[in-house]
Amino acid sequence: MKCSLCEKEAVREIPYMKLFLCREHFIDWFNQRFIRDAKRYKLFEKSKRVAVAVSGGKDSTTMLHLLNEVSKQLNIEIIGVTIDLGINNGTKYSSKSVEIAIDNFKIAQVEYKVIDLNKDYNFTIDRAKSRTNRPACSVCGLSKRYILNAAAEEMNADTLATGHNLDDMAQFIFSGYIYGNFESLARNSMINPPERGYKIKKVKPFFFTPENEILHYAILKGYPFIYDPCPYSSEFGSVAQERIGDMLKNMETKMPGMMINLVKTFEKQIRPALHNIYSKDEDVGKCKLCGRPTSNGRDICSFCSIKNKLIAAQLTNGL
Ligand code: SF4
Ligand code: ZN
Ligand code: ZN
Repeated sequence: MKCSLCEKEAVREIPYMKLFLCREHFIDWFNQRFIRDAKRYKLFEKSKRVAVAVSGGKDSTTMLHLLNEVSKQLNIEIIGVTIDLGINNGTKYSSKSVEIAIDNFKIAQVEYKVIDLNKDYNFTIDRAKSRTNRPACSVCGLSKRYILNAAAEEMNADTLATGHNLDDMAQFIFSGYIYGNFESLARNSMINPPERGYKIKKVKPFFFTPENEILHYAILKGYPFIYDPCPYSSEFGSVAQERIGDMLKNMETKMPGMMINLVKTFEKQIRPALHNIYSKDEDVGKCKLCGRPTSNGRDICSFCSIKNKLIAAQLTNGL
């Protein structure tokens, strides 16, 4: 098949645009859409220093390089942050991910910070999993949210960019409808201003970008990234999410553009309505242990509370 824009052989079909693109035109089209969306949705308005959370996977790695390449046009400075979550469990998943994230920071020549859950917070996701009955993903998700916010503040960033893509968002929205998690849905936007005691704005520039396009782009650009899945991604909760994701992918092949419509309708019409219902004036407290914000005026934040329980479980279990 020929490229829709030139005589070269196409390497990529964009079904929802009825386009076939050669390597150069696909890369160019992807770049243009990225800048257009960033400007249209004012993702970086008033941003100066943007911390990119890099896990070593294709999405966050591509985000780092792309944002770095267009940083002058968007008038922002890019820095990087990654977390060693201590997920090894016979796979060396975290060691490999952190190594790849650092390689990418060096290639992009950006200032970066590595946070080590074991050294800096005295627990790991592997130990949380093996010594307690908590699902690894719930401890991991909470830890990442807390640590990335804190690290971005420490690095004097005003914005934190994450690599969540269209498929992640479609899955999150659909599963939110199924399980009635409307409060979480109300809070999940492509742009979340600093609120509830936090100082950092959070943005998801790939909110409307399909996962398989990011993967193809990362391969064509030759970025190093980790292909292996996290060993805990097959846990019960994640399997349910994966099934919802597969169902959405199937629907997308039969109805090209369905996922973009689902996420756009959510962002433009549904989320603002949910936000009006659920954005009550929350009593924001200050954690007695770490000084960071707590929800519902609690004395101890959720992260310190879980961390202390995990450390206590480790001691009880003789670690
Ligand atoms: Fe963390 Fe779960 Fe993702 Fe693994 S699959 S990185 S444990 S959230
Ligand atoms: Zn072309
Ligand atoms: Zn705390």
